[in-house]
Amino acid sequence: MRDQLFTTATLDTYRAGVERGVSALLDHVGQVRGPFSGALPHEVAPRVDAVDLDRPLGDLDEALAEVRTTYLDDAVWFHEPRYLAHLNCPVLIPALVAEVLVSSVNSSLDTWDQSAGGTLIERRLVEWTAERIGLGADADGVFTSGGTQSNLQALLMARGHAYLDAAVDLTTPLADVVSRLRVLTSRDGHFSVQKAATVLGLGAEAVVVVETDAQHRMRPDALEAELARVRGAGLVPMAVVATAGTTDFGAIDPLPAIADLCEQHGVWLHVDGAYGGGLLASRRRRHLLTGIERADSVTIDFHKTWFQPVSASAVLVRDRASLRHVTYHADYLNPRSAALPNQVDKSLQTTRRFDALKLWLTLRTVGADAVGALFDDVMDLAHRSYDLLRDAPDLEVAVRPTLSTLVFRYRPDGLDEPTADDVNPEIRRRLSRSGAAVVAGTRVDGRAWLKLTLLNPHTSLDDVAAVLALVREIGDDLLDDLRVREETC
Ligand SMILES: *Cc1c(COP(=O)(O)O)cnc(C)c1O
Repeated sequence: MRDQLFTTATLDTYRAGVERGVSALLDHVGQVRGPFSGALPHEVAPRVDAVDLDRPLGDLDEALAEVRTTYLDDAVWFHEPRYLAHLNCPVLIPALVAEVLVSSVNSSLDTWDQSAGGTLIERRLVEWTAERIGLGADADGVFTSGGTQSNLQALLMARGHAYLDAAVDLTTPLADVVSRLRVLTSRDGHFSVQKAATVLGLGAEAVVVVETDAQHRMRPDALEAELARVRGAGLVPMAVVATAGTTDFGAIDPLPAIADLCEQHGVWLHVDGAYGGGLLASRRRRHLLTGIERADSVTIDFHKTWFQPVSASAVLVRDRASLRHVTYHADYLNPRSAALPNQVDKSLQTTRRFDALKLWLTLRTVGADAVGALFDDVMDLAHRSYDLLRDAPDLEVAVRPTLSTLVFRYRPDGLDEPTADDVNPEIRRRLSRSGAAVVAGTRVDGRAWLKLTLLNPHTSLDDVAAVLALVREIGDDLLDDLRVREETC
Protein backbone atom coordinates (compact mmCIF):
# COMPACT_ATOMS: atom_id res chain seq x y z
CA MET A 1 0.00 0.00 0.00
CA ARG A 2 3.02 2.29 -0.14
CA ASP A 3 1.68 3.58 -3.43
CA GLN A 4 -1.12 5.23 -1.41
CA LEU A 5 1.24 7.33 0.70
CA PHE A 6 1.75 10.91 -0.43
CA THR A 7 5.39 11.05 -1.58
CA THR A 8 7.33 12.34 -4.55
CA ALA A 9 6.89 8.89 -6.09
CA THR A 10 3.07 9.06 -5.98
CA LEU A 11 2.32 12.54 -7.27
CA ASP A 12 0.30 11.16 -10.18
CA THR A 13 -1.74 8.95 -7.86
CA TYR A 14 -2.27 11.93 -5.60
CA ARG A 15 -3.41 14.19 -8.40
CA ALA A 16 -5.77 11.55 -9.79
CA GLY A 17 -7.16 10.79 -6.34
CA VAL A 18 -7.74 14.40 -5.40
CA GLU A 19 -9.31 15.05 -8.78
CA ARG A 20 -11.66 12.13 -8.31
CA GLY A 21 -12.57 13.36 -4.85
CA VAL A 22 -13.19 16.85 -6.17
CA SER A 23 -15.25 15.46 -9.08
CA ALA A 24 -17.37 13.34 -6.76
CA LEU A 25 -17.97 16.39 -4.58
CA LEU A 26 -18.79 18.70 -7.45
CA ASP A 27 -21.05 16.19 -9.19
CA HIS A 28 -22.97 15.95 -5.97
CA VAL A 29 -23.03 19.62 -4.95
CA GLY A 30 -24.10 20.57 -8.46
CA GLN A 31 -27.31 18.66 -7.85
CA VAL A 32 -28.01 19.90 -4.35
CA ARG A 33 -31.31 21.79 -4.34
CA GLY A 34 -31.84 22.58 -0.71
CA PRO A 35 -30.03 22.76 2.61
CA PHE A 36 -30.94 19.27 3.78
CA SER A 37 -32.53 16.01 2.67
CA GLY A 38 -34.76 16.01 5.73
CA ALA A 39 -33.49 12.57 6.78
CA LEU A 40 -33.94 11.36 10.34
CA PRO A 41 -31.18 9.49 12.19
CA HIS A 42 -32.95 6.13 11.92
CA GLU A 43 -33.10 6.53 8.15
CA VAL A 44 -29.37 7.22 7.75
CA ALA A 45 -28.08 4.84 10.42
CA PRO A 46 -28.70 1.56 8.49
CA ARG A 47 -26.52 2.79 5.62
CA VAL A 48 -23.68 3.69 7.99
CA ASP A 49 -24.12 0.52 10.03
CA ALA A 50 -24.10 -1.67 6.91
CA VAL A 51 -20.51 -0.70 6.12
CA ASP A 52 -18.09 -3.47 7.01
CA LEU A 53 -15.02 -1.56 8.12
CA ASP A 54 -12.94 -4.73 8.03
CA ARG A 55 -13.58 -5.26 4.30
CA PRO A 56 -12.06 -2.40 2.32
CA LEU A 57 -13.48 -1.80 -1.11
CA GLY A 58 -10.01 -1.56 -2.60
CA ASP A 59 -11.04 1.17 -4.98
CA LEU A 60 -11.28 4.90 -4.40
CA ASP A 61 -14.24 5.43 -6.75
CA GLU A 62 -16.25 2.75 -4.96
CA ALA A 63 -15.34 4.20 -1.59
CA LEU A 64 -16.39 7.64 -2.80
CA ALA A 65 -19.68 6.27 -4.08
CA GLU A 66 -20.26 4.77 -0.65
CA VAL A 67 -19.46 8.11 1.01
CA ARG A 68 -22.15 9.59 -1.15
CA THR A 69 -24.82 7.39 0.41
CA THR A 70 -23.42 7.40 3.93
CA TYR A 71 -22.71 11.13 4.07
CA LEU A 72 -23.22 13.48 1.12
CA ASP A 73 -26.81 12.50 0.33
CA ASP A 74 -27.92 13.69 3.75
CA ALA A 75 -25.32 16.35 4.52
CA VAL A 76 -26.36 19.79 5.69
CA TRP A 77 -25.31 22.45 3.17
CA PHE A 78 -24.30 25.80 4.55
CA HIS A 79 -23.91 27.34 1.08
CA GLU A 80 -27.62 26.84 0.42
CA PRO A 81 -29.47 30.16 0.85
CA ARG A 82 -32.15 28.63 3.05
CA TYR A 83 -29.82 27.15 5.62
CA LEU A 84 -30.50 29.71 8.35
CA ALA A 85 -29.82 27.83 11.58
CA HIS A 86 -26.48 28.08 13.35
CA LEU A 87 -23.20 29.97 13.12
CA ASN A 88 -22.02 28.02 10.08
CA CYS A 89 -20.76 29.89 7.08
CA PRO A 90 -20.22 29.14 3.42
CA VAL A 91 -16.44 28.97 3.02
CA LEU A 92 -14.03 30.96 0.88
CA ILE A 93 -12.31 29.12 -1.96
CA PRO A 94 -8.77 30.35 -1.17
CA ALA A 95 -9.23 28.82 2.29
CA LEU A 96 -10.31 25.52 0.73
CA VAL A 97 -7.25 25.53 -1.49
CA ALA A 98 -5.18 26.12 1.62
CA GLU A 99 -6.83 23.05 3.19
CA VAL A 100 -5.30 20.92 0.43
CA LEU A 101 -1.87 22.25 1.30
CA VAL A 102 -2.40 22.07 5.06
CA SER A 103 -3.46 18.43 4.99
CA SER A 104 -0.98 17.26 2.37
CA VAL A 105 2.13 18.86 3.84
CA ASN A 106 0.70 17.95 7.25
CA SER A 107 2.85 20.37 9.24
CA SER A 108 2.35 20.31 12.96
CA LEU A 109 2.46 23.70 14.57
CA ASP A 110 3.84 22.62 17.91
CA THR A 111 7.49 23.11 17.09
CA TRP A 112 9.73 24.71 14.53
CA ASP A 113 11.17 21.34 13.57
CA GLN A 114 7.67 20.15 12.53
CA SER A 115 6.51 23.29 10.77
CA ALA A 116 9.33 25.79 10.18
CA GLY A 117 7.80 28.67 8.22
CA GLY A 118 4.31 27.63 9.31
CA THR A 119 5.20 28.83 12.79
CA LEU A 120 6.18 32.22 11.41
CA ILE A 121 2.98 32.52 9.36
CA GLU A 122 0.84 31.73 12.39
CA ARG A 123 2.80 34.27 14.43
CA ARG A 124 2.28 36.98 11.82
CA LEU A 125 -1.47 36.31 11.81
CA VAL A 126 -1.63 36.40 15.59
CA GLU A 127 0.18 39.75 15.54
CA TRP A 128 -2.07 41.02 12.76
CA THR A 129 -5.24 40.04 14.63
CA ALA A 130 -3.97 41.48 17.93
CA GLU A 131 -3.17 44.71 16.12
CA ARG A 132 -6.68 44.88 14.64
CA ILE A 133 -8.03 44.44 18.17
CA GLY A 134 -5.60 47.05 19.49
CA LEU A 135 -4.07 44.93 22.24
CA GLY A 136 -0.73 46.73 22.19
CA ALA A 137 2.92 45.90 21.70
CA ASP A 138 3.11 43.05 24.22
CA ALA A 139 0.23 41.06 22.73
CA ASP A 140 0.48 37.47 21.63
CA GLY A 141 -1.74 34.44 21.22
CA VAL A 142 -2.17 31.17 19.39
CA PHE A 143 -4.54 29.46 16.99
CA THR A 144 -6.97 26.98 18.53
CA SER A 145 -9.61 24.49 17.44
CA GLY A 146 -12.52 26.84 18.22
CA GLY A 147 -14.15 29.27 20.58
CA THR A 148 -14.64 26.62 23.23
CA GLN A 149 -10.92 25.95 23.40
CA SER A 150 -10.04 29.64 23.14
CA ASN A 151 -12.33 30.42 26.08
CA LEU A 152 -10.89 27.53 28.08
CA GLN A 153 -7.34 28.70 27.51
CA ALA A 154 -8.24 32.31 28.33
CA LEU A 155 -9.82 31.26 31.62
CA LEU A 156 -6.87 29.00 32.40
CA MET A 157 -4.59 32.03 32.05
CA ALA A 158 -6.98 34.13 34.13
CA ARG A 159 -6.92 31.43 36.80
CA GLY A 160 -3.11 31.49 36.88
CA HIS A 161 -3.20 35.26 37.12
CA ALA A 162 -5.77 35.25 39.93
CA TYR A 163 -3.86 32.60 41.84
CA LEU A 164 -0.67 34.64 41.77
CA ASP A 165 -2.69 37.64 42.95
CA ALA A 166 -4.74 35.92 45.61
CA ALA A 167 -2.25 33.49 47.11
CA VAL A 168 -0.68 35.03 50.19
CA ASP A 169 2.52 33.41 49.05
CA LEU A 170 3.28 30.73 46.52
CA THR A 171 3.10 28.01 49.15
CA THR A 172 -0.68 28.49 49.39
CA PRO A 173 -2.16 25.36 47.81
CA LEU A 174 -3.84 26.09 44.48
CA ALA A 175 -6.96 24.25 45.72
CA ASP A 176 -7.42 26.73 48.58
CA VAL A 177 -7.53 29.60 46.17
CA VAL A 178 -9.39 27.84 43.38
CA SER A 179 -12.46 27.08 45.47
CA ARG A 180 -12.90 30.82 46.03
CA LEU A 181 -12.54 31.90 42.40
CA ARG A 182 -15.56 33.23 40.53
CA VAL A 183 -16.12 33.92 36.83
CA LEU A 184 -18.74 36.51 35.98
CA THR A 185 -20.56 36.37 32.69
CA SER A 186 -23.97 37.43 31.46
CA ARG A 187 -27.09 35.32 31.36
CA ASP A 188 -26.54 35.15 27.60
CA GLY A 189 -22.86 34.13 27.82
CA HIS A 190 -21.80 30.99 25.99
CA PHE A 191 -22.05 27.62 27.77
CA SER A 192 -18.38 26.97 27.07
CA VAL A 193 -17.64 29.37 29.94
CA GLN A 194 -19.42 26.96 32.29
CA LYS A 195 -17.60 24.05 30.73
CA ALA A 196 -14.23 25.78 31.11
CA ALA A 197 -14.93 26.54 34.76
CA THR A 198 -15.67 22.87 35.34
CA VAL A 199 -12.58 21.70 33.49
CA LEU A 200 -10.49 24.16 35.50
CA GLY A 201 -11.75 22.62 38.71
CA LEU A 202 -13.57 25.74 39.85
CA GLY A 203 -16.83 23.90 40.45
CA ALA A 204 -20.25 24.47 38.98
CA GLU A 205 -21.08 27.33 41.35
CA ALA A 206 -18.04 29.30 40.20
CA VAL A 207 -19.87 30.96 37.32
CA VAL A 208 -21.80 33.99 38.51
CA VAL A 209 -24.58 35.01 36.15
CA VAL A 210 -24.92 38.74 35.53
CA GLU A 211 -28.30 40.06 34.46
CA THR A 212 -28.86 41.54 31.03
CA ASP A 213 -30.88 44.44 29.67
CA ALA A 214 -33.78 44.19 27.21
CA GLN A 215 -31.28 43.86 24.34
CA HIS A 216 -29.63 40.90 26.11
CA ARG A 217 -26.45 42.88 26.89
CA MET A 218 -24.72 42.57 30.24
CA ARG A 219 -25.86 45.32 32.60
CA PRO A 220 -22.83 47.17 34.01
CA ASP A 221 -24.77 48.11 37.17
CA ALA A 222 -25.57 44.42 37.71
CA LEU A 223 -21.92 43.53 37.11
CA GLU A 224 -20.82 46.12 39.64
CA ALA A 225 -23.27 44.73 42.21
CA GLU A 226 -22.09 41.15 41.59
CA LEU A 227 -18.43 42.13 41.88
CA ALA A 228 -19.18 43.78 45.22
CA ARG A 229 -21.20 40.78 46.38
CA VAL A 230 -18.44 38.33 45.41
CA ARG A 231 -15.81 40.42 47.16
CA GLY A 232 -18.05 40.90 50.20
CA ALA A 233 -18.41 37.14 50.55
CA GLY A 234 -14.63 36.75 50.72
CA LEU A 235 -14.50 35.29 47.21
CA VAL A 236 -12.16 36.26 44.38
CA PRO A 237 -13.47 37.52 41.04
CA MET A 238 -11.13 35.69 38.68
CA ALA A 239 -12.48 36.96 35.37
CA VAL A 240 -15.29 38.79 33.73
CA VAL A 241 -16.28 37.23 30.42
CA ALA A 242 -17.93 39.83 28.23
CA THR A 243 -19.51 38.58 25.04
CA ALA A 244 -19.03 40.44 21.76
CA GLY A 245 -21.87 38.82 19.87
CA THR A 246 -23.98 36.44 21.92
CA THR A 247 -24.87 33.24 20.12
CA ASP A 248 -28.62 33.79 20.19
CA PHE A 249 -29.06 37.56 19.93
CA GLY A 250 -25.70 38.75 18.60
CA ALA A 251 -25.71 41.15 21.53
CA ILE A 252 -22.49 42.97 22.29
CA ASP A 253 -21.96 43.64 25.97
CA PRO A 254 -21.05 47.28 26.77
CA LEU A 255 -17.30 46.73 26.58
CA PRO A 256 -16.06 50.20 27.68
CA ALA A 257 -18.18 50.19 30.87
CA ILE A 258 -17.22 46.59 31.63
CA ALA A 259 -13.54 47.37 31.02
CA ASP A 260 -13.80 50.29 33.48
CA LEU A 261 -15.19 47.99 36.18
CA CYS A 262 -12.55 45.35 35.53
CA GLU A 263 -9.85 47.97 35.81
CA GLN A 264 -11.27 49.35 39.08
CA HIS A 265 -11.52 45.89 40.58
CA GLY A 266 -8.31 44.53 39.08
CA VAL A 267 -10.18 41.70 37.38
CA TRP A 268 -9.15 39.90 34.20
CA LEU A 269 -11.37 40.86 31.27
CA HIS A 270 -11.93 38.18 28.65
CA VAL A 271 -13.93 39.16 25.57
CA ASP A 272 -15.62 36.22 23.87
CA GLY A 273 -15.71 37.50 20.30
CA ALA A 274 -16.30 34.07 18.75
CA TYR A 275 -19.21 35.49 16.77
CA GLY A 276 -18.63 39.27 16.71
CA GLY A 277 -14.92 38.90 15.84
CA GLY A 278 -15.77 39.30 12.16
CA LEU A 279 -16.40 42.98 12.91
CA LEU A 280 -12.62 43.40 13.04
CA ALA A 281 -12.72 43.22 9.23
CA SER A 282 -15.84 45.33 8.75
CA ARG A 283 -15.31 48.82 7.38
CA ARG A 284 -18.79 49.92 8.43
CA ARG A 285 -19.28 48.35 11.83
CA ARG A 286 -15.86 48.00 13.45
CA HIS A 287 -16.95 50.64 15.98
CA LEU A 288 -19.34 48.12 17.56
CA LEU A 289 -16.27 46.48 19.11
CA THR A 290 -15.00 49.66 20.75
CA GLY A 291 -13.54 48.71 24.13
CA ILE A 292 -12.32 45.28 23.02
CA GLU A 293 -8.79 46.74 22.95
CA ARG A 294 -8.90 46.88 26.75
CA ALA A 295 -9.35 43.13 27.17
CA ASP A 296 -6.74 40.90 28.79
CA SER A 297 -7.72 38.12 26.42
CA VAL A 298 -9.96 37.75 23.37
CA THR A 299 -11.53 34.82 21.51
CA ILE A 300 -11.97 35.12 17.74
CA ASP A 301 -13.55 32.34 15.66
CA PHE A 302 -12.39 32.58 12.07
CA HIS A 303 -14.65 29.65 11.23
CA LYS A 304 -17.76 31.72 11.91
CA THR A 305 -17.73 35.29 10.65
CA TRP A 306 -14.50 35.11 8.66
CA PHE A 307 -15.89 32.49 6.24
CA GLN A 308 -13.17 29.94 7.01
CA PRO A 309 -13.62 26.16 7.09
CA VAL A 310 -13.77 24.48 10.50
CA SER A 311 -11.57 24.68 12.40
CA ALA A 312 -9.94 28.09 12.71
CA SER A 313 -9.96 30.13 15.90
CA ALA A 314 -7.50 32.08 18.00
CA VAL A 315 -7.05 33.25 21.55
CA LEU A 316 -5.20 36.55 21.90
CA VAL A 317 -3.65 38.04 25.04
CA ARG A 318 -2.67 41.58 25.97
CA ASP A 319 0.47 40.42 27.80
CA ARG A 320 2.43 37.61 26.20
CA ALA A 321 3.72 36.60 29.64
CA SER A 322 0.21 35.27 30.42
CA LEU A 323 0.87 32.42 28.02
CA ARG A 324 3.37 30.94 30.49
CA HIS A 325 0.39 29.43 32.28
CA VAL A 326 0.16 26.85 29.48
CA THR A 327 3.90 26.32 29.12
CA TYR A 328 5.28 22.93 30.02
CA HIS A 329 8.59 21.54 28.90
CA ALA A 330 9.33 18.12 27.48
CA ASP A 331 12.89 17.04 26.87
CA TYR A 332 11.98 15.46 23.55
CA LEU A 333 10.06 18.45 22.22
CA ASN A 334 10.67 21.87 23.73
CA PRO A 335 13.35 21.70 26.41
CA ARG A 336 13.83 24.81 28.48
CA SER A 337 17.00 25.53 26.54
CA ALA A 338 15.24 25.49 23.14
CA ALA A 339 16.48 28.33 21.00
CA LEU A 340 13.94 27.96 18.20
CA PRO A 341 10.40 29.39 18.19
CA ASN A 342 7.90 26.93 19.67
CA GLN A 343 4.15 27.48 19.46
CA VAL A 344 3.57 24.49 21.75
CA ASP A 345 4.71 26.72 24.61
CA LYS A 346 1.57 28.79 24.04
CA SER A 347 -0.99 26.10 23.32
CA LEU A 348 -3.13 23.54 25.15
CA GLN A 349 -2.64 21.25 22.16
CA THR A 350 0.57 19.51 21.14
CA THR A 351 0.17 18.20 17.59
CA ARG A 352 -1.81 20.97 15.94
CA ARG A 353 -3.12 21.70 12.43
CA PHE A 354 -1.75 24.60 10.42
CA ASP A 355 -5.21 26.21 10.26
CA ALA A 356 -3.62 29.63 10.03
CA LEU A 357 -2.70 29.02 6.41
CA LYS A 358 -6.39 29.19 5.43
CA LEU A 359 -6.72 32.71 6.79
CA TRP A 360 -3.34 33.62 5.32
CA LEU A 361 -4.29 32.54 1.80
CA THR A 362 -7.65 34.29 2.19
CA LEU A 363 -6.04 37.57 3.22
CA ARG A 364 -3.37 37.31 0.52
CA THR A 365 -5.92 36.52 -2.19
CA VAL A 366 -8.98 38.64 -1.43
CA GLY A 367 -8.01 40.67 1.65
CA ALA A 368 -9.73 41.50 4.91
CA ASP A 369 -12.01 44.19 3.46
CA ALA A 370 -13.66 41.63 1.19
CA VAL A 371 -14.25 39.31 4.13
CA GLY A 372 -15.65 42.16 6.21
CA ALA A 373 -17.96 43.14 3.35
CA LEU A 374 -19.43 39.63 3.33
CA PHE A 375 -20.22 39.94 7.02
CA ASP A 376 -21.63 43.44 6.48
CA ASP A 377 -23.93 42.04 3.79
CA VAL A 378 -25.47 39.46 6.12
CA MET A 379 -25.87 42.05 8.87
CA ASP A 380 -27.68 44.32 6.39
CA LEU A 381 -29.92 41.41 5.48
CA ALA A 382 -30.67 40.78 9.16
CA HIS A 383 -31.82 44.38 9.56
CA ARG A 384 -34.10 44.17 6.53
CA SER A 385 -35.43 40.81 7.70
CA TYR A 386 -36.20 42.35 11.08
CA ASP A 387 -38.58 44.77 9.36
CA LEU A 388 -40.32 41.82 7.69
CA LEU A 389 -40.74 40.09 11.02
CA ARG A 390 -41.86 43.20 12.86
CA ASP A 391 -44.56 43.82 10.27
CA ALA A 392 -45.83 40.22 10.16
CA PRO A 393 -48.98 40.04 12.29
CA ASP A 394 -48.62 36.37 13.27
CA LEU A 395 -44.87 36.42 13.92
CA GLU A 396 -43.20 37.96 16.93
CA VAL A 397 -39.57 39.09 16.92
CA ALA A 398 -37.56 39.36 20.14
CA VAL A 399 -35.14 42.23 19.52
CA ARG A 400 -33.70 44.34 16.71
CA PRO A 401 -30.53 42.56 15.51
CA THR A 402 -27.03 43.82 16.27
CA LEU A 403 -25.19 41.24 14.17
CA SER A 404 -26.99 38.68 12.01
CA THR A 405 -29.38 36.62 14.11
CA LEU A 406 -33.13 36.99 14.50
CA VAL A 407 -34.98 35.33 17.36
CA PHE A 408 -38.69 35.07 16.55
CA ARG A 409 -41.70 32.85 16.98
CA TYR A 410 -44.98 32.01 15.34
CA ARG A 411 -47.64 33.50 17.55
CA PRO A 412 -50.86 34.72 15.94
CA ASP A 413 -53.10 36.93 18.03
CA GLY A 414 -54.66 35.09 20.92
CA LEU A 415 -52.32 32.08 20.85
CA ASP A 416 -51.45 31.31 24.45
CA GLU A 417 -47.83 30.83 25.53
CA PRO A 418 -48.00 27.08 26.33
CA THR A 419 -49.45 26.32 22.90
CA ALA A 420 -46.83 28.53 21.27
CA ASP A 421 -44.23 26.49 23.19
CA ASP A 422 -45.57 23.31 21.60
CA VAL A 423 -46.10 24.68 18.13
CA ASN A 424 -42.78 26.44 17.50
CA PRO A 425 -40.44 23.47 18.03
CA GLU A 426 -42.79 21.38 15.91
CA ILE A 427 -42.62 23.99 13.12
CA ARG A 428 -38.86 23.67 13.23
CA ARG A 429 -39.00 19.86 13.08
CA ARG A 430 -41.41 19.84 10.14
CA LEU A 431 -39.41 22.44 8.27
CA SER A 432 -36.23 20.41 8.69
CA ARG A 433 -38.07 17.23 7.68
CA SER A 434 -39.27 18.89 4.49
CA GLY A 435 -35.69 19.86 3.63
CA ALA A 436 -36.89 23.22 2.34
CA ALA A 437 -35.12 25.21 5.03
CA VAL A 438 -33.24 24.74 8.27
CA VAL A 439 -33.82 27.14 11.16
CA ALA A 440 -32.70 26.91 14.77
CA GLY A 441 -34.63 26.88 18.00
CA THR A 442 -33.81 28.42 21.35
CA ARG A 443 -35.45 29.36 24.62
CA VAL A 444 -35.98 32.88 25.90
CA ASP A 445 -37.12 33.27 29.52
CA GLY A 446 -38.17 29.64 29.48
CA ARG A 447 -40.29 29.94 26.32
CA ALA A 448 -39.66 28.29 22.95
CA TRP A 449 -38.55 30.55 20.10
CA LEU A 450 -37.11 30.05 16.64
CA LYS A 451 -33.90 31.57 15.37
CA LEU A 452 -32.42 32.57 12.05
CA THR A 453 -28.65 32.92 11.87
CA LEU A 454 -27.77 34.72 8.67
CA LEU A 455 -24.22 34.05 7.52
CA ASN A 456 -24.72 33.35 3.84
CA PRO A 457 -24.30 36.39 1.60
CA HIS A 458 -26.28 34.51 -1.06
CA THR A 459 -29.38 34.44 1.10
CA SER A 460 -31.75 37.11 -0.20
CA LEU A 461 -34.59 38.93 1.48
CA ASP A 462 -36.87 36.82 -0.73
CA ASP A 463 -35.34 33.67 0.74
CA VAL A 464 -36.00 34.92 4.25
CA ALA A 465 -39.57 35.89 3.28
CA ALA A 466 -40.12 32.46 1.74
CA VAL A 467 -38.88 30.69 4.86
CA LEU A 468 -41.10 32.86 7.06
CA ALA A 469 -44.05 32.00 4.79
CA LEU A 470 -43.27 28.30 5.32
CA VAL A 471 -43.11 28.84 9.08
CA ARG A 472 -46.50 30.52 8.98
CA GLU A 473 -47.99 27.82 6.75
CA ILE A 474 -46.80 25.00 9.01
CA GLY A 475 -47.93 26.93 12.08
CA ASP A 476 -51.39 27.49 10.61
CA ASP A 477 -51.67 23.78 9.74
CA LEU A 478 -50.68 22.79 13.27
CA LEU A 479 -53.27 25.10 14.78
CA ASP A 480 -55.94 23.72 12.42
CA ASP A 481 -55.03 20.20 13.53
CA LEU A 482 -55.29 21.26 17.17
CA ARG A 483 -58.72 22.76 16.59
CA VAL A 484 -59.99 19.65 14.83
CA ARG A 485 -58.67 17.50 17.66
CA GLU A 486 -60.34 19.69 20.29
CA GLU A 487 -63.65 19.53 18.45
CA THR A 488 -63.56 15.73 18.13
CA CYS A 489 -62.58 15.25 21.78
C1 LIG B 1 -19.73 29.53 18.82
C2 LIG B 1 -19.43 30.23 20.08
C3 LIG B 1 -18.51 29.70 20.98
C4 LIG B 1 -17.91 28.32 20.81
O1 LIG B 1 -17.08 28.28 19.71
P1 LIG B 1 -16.74 26.90 18.96
O2 LIG B 1 -15.88 27.35 17.86
O3 LIG B 1 -18.06 26.33 18.53
O4 LIG B 1 -16.05 26.03 19.93
C5 LIG B 1 -18.17 30.45 22.09
N1 LIG B 1 -18.76 31.64 22.31
C6 LIG B 1 -19.67 32.17 21.48
C7 LIG B 1 -20.27 33.50 21.79
C8 LIG B 1 -20.04 31.47 20.33
O5 LIG B 1 -20.96 31.98 19.51
